[in-house]
Amino acid sequence: MALKALDIYKLLPKKNCKECGDPTCLTFAMKLASGKADIDLCPYLDESAKSVLGATTRPPIRLIKLGVGERSFSVGEEFVLYRHDKTFYHPPGILFKVFDTQSSEEITQVTKRVRDEVFTRVGTDLRFNGIAIENSSGTVEAFARAVATVEENADLPLVLISKDLEAFNAALIQVGSYRPLIHSATKENFREMCALAKKHSCPLVVKANGLDNLIGLVKSCGEEGVKKMVMDLCPQSLGDYLSLSTAVRQLAITRAVPDLGYPVFFDATHPNLQDAAIALGIVKYASVIITPPLSEESAKAAHTLRQNIYTDPQKPIQMNPGLYRVGIPGKDAPVLMTVNFSLTFFTLEGYLESSKIPCFLLIVDTEGLSVLTAVAAGKLNETLVRDSLKKFEVEREVSHKKLIIPGYASPLSGRIEEATGWKVLVGPRDAAEIGEYLHEEWNKLKK
Ligand code: SF4
Repeated sequence: MALKALDIYKLLPKKNCKECGDPTCLTFAMKLASGKADIDLCPYLDESAKSVLGATTRPPIRLIKLGVGERSFSVGEEFVLYRHDKTFYHPPGILFKVFDTQSSEEITQVTKRVRDEVFTRVGTDLRFNGIAIENSSGTVEAFARAVATVEENADLPLVLISKDLEAFNAALIQVGSYRPLIHSATKENFREMCALAKKHSCPLVVKANGLDNLIGLVKSCGEEGVKKMVMDLCPQSLGDYLSLSTAVRQLAITRAVPDLGYPVFFDATHPNLQDAAIALGIVKYASVIITPPLSEESAKAAHTLRQNIYTDPQKPIQMNPGLYRVGIPGKDAPVLMTVNFSLTFFTLEGYLESSKIPCFLLIVDTEGLSVLTAVAAGKLNETLVRDSLKKFEVEREVSHKKLIIPGYASPLSGRIEEATGWKVLVGPRDAAEIGEYLHEEWNKLKK
C-alpha cells in the first residue's frame, strides 16, 4: 500500500541537508509519496528505511537518462496507461540506425542529419535524438570504426548493438564518457554484460522472450548491481508488440510486478509498415525507438505524432499574449486580433506571411482556448480585448483604430466597438481566407 507523506517523513533522516535536491526532508517526502522521486537520492537512509520505502515510493517506471550534454534525454517515469487519465511525461527518443557494414560517408550523412535537422512545429523545435549502431559485420574493427565515425561528427546519445563483448569493449573506448545504451543482456551473457555496463556506467538493454523470462532476467541483472535498465520485449510482430507493451505498462504502473518498472526499447524497423511501426511505438509505450532513417514525410509525421501524444491533454499549447508583428508593419498596417491557442496562432501566422501584407497580430489570453470555445465560454469578451489593446499599447503602433476580429467572434463585434472605441471588422472564419480578405477588404478600406 502506498505510504502517506507524513509516514515517509518519519522514516527520513531529517537532516534537511538538501543533498537530495529538495530544500527539506518534508518536501522530499511529499515527492516520494507522489512517486516523483527515488529514495536513492537521499544518501543518509539506513537499510531498514530503504527496505520499507523501496518499492512503495519510487516512480512505477524508473527514469533513465540517455547520453550526456545538450542532446541527452530522459525516458520512463510514467504513471498512467491512458494519456487522458493524466499525461505522458517523457517522449520516446527516436534514433536512426546505421550498420557498421555501411561506408563512413553513409554513416556520416545519417549522423549529420540527426545532428542538424530541426522541424519547427507550433513554436517548438523538434529533433530526432541519436544514432543506433549495429555490429552487423560481426567484426570488432568495423564496429569500432563505425562508432568512431559517429563520434567524430556529433555528440549524440547512442545505442550500441552487438553480440560480441570484445566489439563492445573496442567501441566503448571510442565513446569515452558518453555512456551509450548497450544492447543487450540475455540469459546467456547477462553477467558479462552487467559487468561491462557497470564498468562504463552505461544503461543496459535487457532482452528476453516472454514476460516471465524478462522478469527473471531483470531481477538477475539487478542482483548483479545494474540499476539503469531498458527492456527489449522481443516482439514477433507489431500485434505482438502491442500486447506485450500494454501488459508491461499495466503491470508496471499498478506496481503489480515492480521488476517490469523500466522503460521499453523498440526496434521499429519494418520492411513494409515502417510508418505504422513508428506510430505504434510512439503511441504504445516505447521509450527508445530505433528506426532506419525516415523519409522527410515520415519524419514530419513521427515528430507531429510524438509532440501531440506527449502534450498534456488538459493544457492546450499556449502562446504568450502580446502584440506580434508579421513582416515589418508600418503605421497603416492592419491589426488582427485572435486567441492564444498555439495552433490558431501558427496557422494564422502562416497564412498572413503568405499574404505578403505586413500586419500586427494582437494575441489575447483565453487560456489556450480556440476562438469558438473561448466565445462560448465567455473567455473572449469585450473587456479582454479592451484591456489587451491598452496593455500592449496598440494605439502607439498604428495611425488608425480598426481591428479585425476572427469570423467566429462576430457576435462580439458590437460590444467590442463600444468598449474600445475601435471600428471592428469581422474577418473570415477560415484562416486560409485571410490573405484574400486583406487584399480585398483592407486595401479597399485604405483607399
Ligand atoms: S538528502 Fe535526505 S536528509 Fe538530506 S534533505 Fe534530502 S531527505 Fe533529508
